Amino acid sequence: MLCKQCGSTDSRVIDSRPSEDGLQIRRRRECEACGARFTTVETLKERPLIVLKKNKSSEPFSHEKLLRGLLTATVKRDVPLATLEGLINSVEAELTSQGQSEVRSEELGNMVLERLRSIDDVAYIRFASVYKDFQDIDEFQSALKGM
Ligand SMILES: [Zn+2]
Repeated sequence: MLCKQCGSTDSRVIDSRPSEDGLQIRRRRECEACGARFTTVETLKERPLIVLKKNKSSEPFSHEKLLRGLLTATVKRDVPLATLEGLINSVEAELTSQGQSEVRSEELGNMVLERLRSIDDVAYIRFASVYKDFQDIDEFQSALKGM
């Protein structure tokens, strides 16, 4: 790890601790050459989660894409972005903790709905009424635009 102060690549780890969610490790390092201290963060490289669609095609799970779908479903509903991010993180965490490498789009939709129900009724109904009949969030979004 390059020292920003002197450019030396020799550093030693003086402390390591996992983040609260256990997905990152923060390491406190000390430059062997000049003694400068800095912190590095290592992130666990996870297997990508695959979403199986109804038409038998598949695509990697996309946090961004799901967020776009939720933003569309919550238009004019005053649901904070942080709440939606939390919802997606919770879905991802559940799938990760189950050790799943694949999830059916239908199952994914249901996991979102379970959580959305307690957040906003209208968004729940929008998501539920349209999502179930569509292959994926792209189609869901174009349908919602017409609502
Ligand atoms: Zn240094």
